[in-house]
Amino acid sequence: SSVWSNVEMGPPDPILGVTEAFRKDTNPKKMNLGVGAYRDDKGKPYVLECIKKAEAQLLKENLDKEYAPISGAPEFCKASAQLAFGEKSDIVKNGLNSTVQGISGTGSLRIGAAFFKTWYEKSKDFYIPTPSWGNHTPIFKHAGLNVKSYKYYDANTCGFDFKGALDDISKVPEGSVIVLHACAHNPTGVDPKPEQWKELSAVMKKRNLYPFFDMAYQGFASGDIDKDAFPVRQFLADGHTLSVCQSYAKNMGLYGERAGAFTIVCSSSDEAQRVMSQLKILIRPMYSNPPVHGSRLVTKVLTDPALRSEWLKEVKGMADRIITMRQKLVAGLKREGSKRNWQHITDQIGMFCFTGLKSDQVERLIKEFSIYLTKDGRISVAGVSSANVDYLANAIHQVSK
Ligand code: PLP
Repeated sequence: SSVWSNVEMGPPDPILGVTEAFRKDTNPKKMNLGVGAYRDDKGKPYVLECIKKAEAQLLKENLDKEYAPISGAPEFCKASAQLAFGEKSDIVKNGLNSTVQGISGTGSLRIGAAFFKTWYEKSKDFYIPTPSWGNHTPIFKHAGLNVKSYKYYDANTCGFDFKGALDDISKVPEGSVIVLHACAHNPTGVDPKPEQWKELSAVMKKRNLYPFFDMAYQGFASGDIDKDAFPVRQFLADGHTLSVCQSYAKNMGLYGERAGAFTIVCSSSDEAQRVMSQLKILIRPMYSNPPVHGSRLVTKVLTDPALRSEWLKEVKGMADRIITMRQKLVAGLKREGSKRNWQHITDQIGMFCFTGLKSDQVERLIKEFSIYLTKDGRISVAGVSSANVDYLANAIHQVSK
């Protein structure tokens, strides 16, 4: 037999499968609400103006294409840590952060997972919310960690199951790692309120649980980078030493450039240096060193005052468009005469909305209306625009009345 006769056909990616079915559909009204990438109000991919300007500046500088350091450019790492912790934070000032550039958010999670597998002695158990981003389980498992879960989403309210989360987290063995979506939880769009974050932080501190933040949407949720980083900063203020994974895919629209960062906050600068040395030892055999172009763009945007203020406006513009689409969708459902309570659509935040539609209703949206979404009823609000929001409202009403 041939060398690879043992290789079985794997299942297709569930989200890419949605896009494929969408492509084949010839209905001019078709909508793709599966993709996790921002679209402008014309439904087109969006390159931020600040990024175009940063790119023009880089071109003029005529830079070489030499390798980045294993951990990425130091200016990029510093600016990323400051973005996460805030300009006033002492962490960067006192050298308490070990920050490396990751291959966007995914690669940052993967490096973090590898570090915990090798060096975190208290536990190999990573607890993720139910549900969580579909890639969390494979990333952590691939690194050899055990993936467990805690309650998060309440299907009855389409909101946060605070009691369930607290109950579960207070039963988790001491030392375990709790994975937290810092903002704009994917796939539900449901975030804890500030008071709830404070309680979660207190319980985790008391029980010696390790907070591992995935912050893939800073600024993209509320439009305000500081507000979206609240949980990370609150946990630090409460005395946690924590980790945070960052991505510039959504908030700078740099999806394909793969710029992100992984940070471990340490107890001393000596410890931070030791941790950094081991992060490099893990990165070297995986991919040697990270790509330079995206991280150069990010560094420019974060450190040039004019570009930075333009970015803050643009990221708010993206967040606001999504918030407006949520409001228009709810208004449209009311206009259609829907008697259901759709308040969760505007309560939820970020790219995604968990509509609460059942799988047979999702099936009808696809078959009868050419509206494509994942079976769990998640829609990407970024795929909704002024031109199609009423069509969507009508279709949701038809399948849910
Ligand atoms: N974490 C979460 C929760 C996400 O939703 C995503 C993207 O969808 C990522 C991480 C990482 O994405 P990327 O690797 O493109 O930065």
